Amino acid sequence: MSYNIAIDGPAGAGKSTIAKKIAKQLQFIYVDTGAMYRAMALFLIRKGIRPEETEKISATCEEADITIAYENGEQVVLLNGENVNGLIRTEEVGNMASASSVNGDVRKKLVKLQQELARKADVVMDGRDIGTCVLPDAQVKVYLTAGSAVRAQRRYQELMAKGEQCDLAKIEQDIIERDHRDMTREISPLRQAEDAVLIDSSEMGIDDVVDAVIRLCER
Ligand code: C5P
Repeated sequence: MSYNIAIDGPAGAGKSTIAKKIAKQLQFIYVDTGAMYRAMALFLIRKGIRPEETEKISATCEEADITIAYENGEQVVLLNGENVNGLIRTEEVGNMASASSVNGDVRKKLVKLQQELARKADVVMDGRDIGTCVLPDAQVKVYLTAGSAVRAQRRYQELMAKGEQCDLAKIEQDIIERDHRDMTREISPLRQAEDAVLIDSSEMGIDDVVDAVIRLCER
């Protein structure tokens, strides 16, 4: 049986940074489920669909073939065969991902793919519903969070480092809106699984969080 580590939490809590490091240390495969929702969002944006067009989203998401591959140990998201890694880390795509991920048809399609990946390999998977829905039997579950101001600051620095124009206040506002939508949606809302360990990284360094999760795995 494969060994699965589930990491959930709100936007900008550091899930992907932490998950990547853990995967490297344990030689597990890192699965970034947010990237799959982002690839779907990019597909919908390209089709000219707006977030509130629920029926169009349900009908159109079937046309998106989303798969992941690994190149030099990095996850690459393929949208109908095209590597879209360089196109999905914008605020526009993030906001569309948050809006379209409330759709049951989008979720069903992507959850199935995520479960297949976790069945075949030892994975560290991060997202919003991994411990609660995607991998309810994961051996280790973590709910990683931090205050919204800290998370906005981290996202801001990440975007600035990539040379993207951004506004800190707007990022924090987007983060708060996104959290609210993720936590209050009807299907698989973001919440801490009953058997997940809560880690608040507001005042922790990356390596401290990684060590804390590794210790949970060793238990
Ligand atoms: O984590 P990231 O910011 O890349 O995720 C983008 C959006 O995708 C989130 O705001 C959330 O709405 C959605 N998502 C989700 N379930 C997941 C992962 C991401 O609904 N497992």
